[in-house]
Amino acid sequence: MKIYRFRYRKRIMYGILKEEVLFPVKGSIFKDFRIEDSAIPIAEVTLLPPVCPSKIVCVGRNYREHAEELGNQVPPEPLLFLKPPSAIIGPNQAIVYPEMSQRVDYEGELAVIIKKKAKNLSERDNWQDYVLGYACFNDVTARDLQLKDVQFTRAKSFDTFAPIGPCLVTDLDPTAVHLKTFLNGQLVQSGNTRNMIFPVPFLIRYISKIMTLEPGDVIATGTPAGVGPMQPGDRVDVQIEGIGTLSNIVKNKIKEAG
Ligand code: MG
Repeated sequence: MKIYRFRYRKRIMYGILKEEVLFPVKGSIFKDFRIEDSAIPIAEVTLLPPVCPSKIVCVGRNYREHAEELGNQVPPEPLLFLKPPSAIIGPNQAIVYPEMSQRVDYEGELAVIIKKKAKNLSERDNWQDYVLGYACFNDVTARDLQLKDVQFTRAKSFDTFAPIGPCLVTDLDPTAVHLKTFLNGQLVQSGNTRNMIFPVPFLIRYISKIMTLEPGDVIATGTPAGVGPMQPGDRVDVQIEGIGTLSNIVKNKIKEAG
């Protein structure tokens, strides 16, 4: 099932996509809902980020080839950092190139969206009960600032540095899906989630032992090899088998008064 969040005639709602038509959802996508009969063509809506998380937990160096391309060791335990919810943008929204950076990279990733409160999950807990679905994610990174700072906060947290979408997909096996990133139509990343060092079930349990995961929270599971810089005017597409394509353009910061 593909669940979209969108604006239609000034209303924000969720809908299920069936053959290019959205059927609005009544109720909560995290609990119980029913699908209404009224149909809205997807071409008539503005797509929004599929969730408004309380936090975005990111996993660094979760693919061997990517760790190696940046000259890093494979970590013995998951390397975690956070992105603020203020960085989220939806499909087709612009990634704004900060004045502070001269090198902004794309990182195509699989995002996990949490369904219900998850705390201290053990091997006995069924991790799938805690997952609402999956989406494409772009862990946009100011690489020059990441190398300059001791920790990742500044490099990873600019507004617009967390594109997510285009929808969330409920039925997907996160341990074996193909992920591709395109820069201006050119293939730049191609990986499979089966090559993650720490797979999704492990990550959910591990993170839940550190912080309580809330409904709507996002886990960005790391990027395969092939990261590289973007320039204002570029278009970046993160494509995951079974989900679809998250497209964003890059633009320069427009000077705002005040
Ligand atoms: Mg990343």
